[in-house]
Amino acid sequence: MTRRMIIDTDTAADDSFALLVGLLHPRASIEAITIVSGNVDFDQQVQNALITVEAAGRSGEVPVHLGARVPMARPWYAASAHGDGKGNHDFPAPAQLPSDEGAAEAIARIVRENPGEIDILAIGPLTNIATAVLLDRELASNVRQLWIMGGCDNSVGNVTAAAEYNFYVDPEAADIVLRAGFDVTIVTWTITLAQALWTRDQLDEIRSIGTSLSDFFTILDTPNLEYNEGVAIMGSTHPDSLTAMLLVQPELILRSSRQFVAVEHVSDLTRGYSLFDRRAARNAPNATVIDEIDATGFFEAYKALLTSGRHTG
Ligand code: CA
Repeated sequence: MTRRMIIDTDTAADDSFALLVGLLHPRASIEAITIVSGNVDFDQQVQNALITVEAAGRSGEVPVHLGARVPMARPWYAASAHGDGKGNHDFPAPAQLPSDEGAAEAIARIVRENPGEIDILAIGPLTNIATAVLLDRELASNVRQLWIMGGCDNSVGNVTAAAEYNFYVDPEAADIVLRAGFDVTIVTWTITLAQALWTRDQLDEIRSIGTSLSDFFTILDTPNLEYNEGVAIMGSTHPDSLTAMLLVQPELILRSSRQFVAVEHVSDLTRGYSLFDRRAARNAPNATVIDEIDATGFFEAYKALLTSGRHTG
């Protein structure tokens, strides 16, 4: 089944790999890319998204909309793992320019025009999605499903001990979105570390595919791999591309659970902490949380995408 989607992204490295799923996977139809303040400098993120559209051979086919340059109530907080988010490599300037229509406006319009048809894949801080909720209070009921990469399942985060990056950066937005009534699925940092960590041997397998797409992957992935090895994570992590792949290939989900998920936005100590509560009798579930995936299947599916993508350059 083809999934029509909007991808909301703070484009750097694994965000680009998630965009490739939207741009190239035979079961994906990507309607728009929307850019949100996150990983690296905002304008760099825009360039990274446009470069990725180009790498997929789809220049001019998918609009890129500019969204929030800062979180809803806080200053921008950069991630440290990604360099410039494009492998610190000089790519030719992309031919496509960004759209004039803003991200939240585009999200609200596309969903309003296609009620029940559009999935949103949110792989950055949730600022644009929350803004779209405030623009159109019917957004949540008109979106088919909202897939979020964010949070850590009652375990240590990747910014503080309490918090994962996307929820940490804009906890007010995460709070608005999780309360808005979407049909939500969450892929956490916890499952990413456990099941979407690709070793150097696996990355060598990707390098040896030898397509322009696998070269693109290797260039963008290298800073993340080197950063991770510096903090004793032995491989590169793929939270965003995992979320994208599970959306189009749900057969890779081996176990999931309905849970109540909420994000802390008052405390400084636990800013962005995500509470995951499986006790349905105590707290009514508001999200489906991915608990276990077919890790080998995910890697093989991503390799297949890099091998047989429409882009043959
Ligand atoms: Ca991201």
